[in-house]
Amino acid sequence: MATKRKRTNPKLEPYKKLLIKIKEQITGDIRGLSDENNGSGNDRGGDVSGHALHMADVATDMYDREFTLGLAANDRELLYQVNEALNRIDEGNYGHCSLCKKPIPATRLKAIPHTQTCLKCQELMESKRR
Ligand SMILES: [Zn+2]
Repeated sequence: MATKRKRTNPKLEPYKKLLIKIKEQITGDIRGLSDENNGSGNDRGGDVSGHALHMADVATDMYDREFTLGLAANDRELLYQVNEALNRIDEGNYGHCSLCKKPIPATRLKAIPHTQTCLKCQELMESKRR
């Protein structure tokens, strides 16, 4: 039985934040930046009597999928890579080249946090691609 432990390496936290930021940029989800969420003025007990539960939550999954399909191909690719990188952080093997298994230099990770390969392997792949 695999118990999933949430133990993100503190060293990887900055990259995780970078990745989440990229993700938010792609999906246009910038709720975290808005200042509208002001919860003050609560001390009088407003007239919130019986708020309707909306069923919209059920559709979210499908919406997400369609939304993803609506993205430009390169955005989708990027989103995929970002999600993969986040997975690797959770699994604890983030920051290693997927080809040569060597650690990817921090400078490269900071520039391209979703990269899967070191610069050498990247160049190798690009020269092979044609
Ligand atoms: Zn490599």
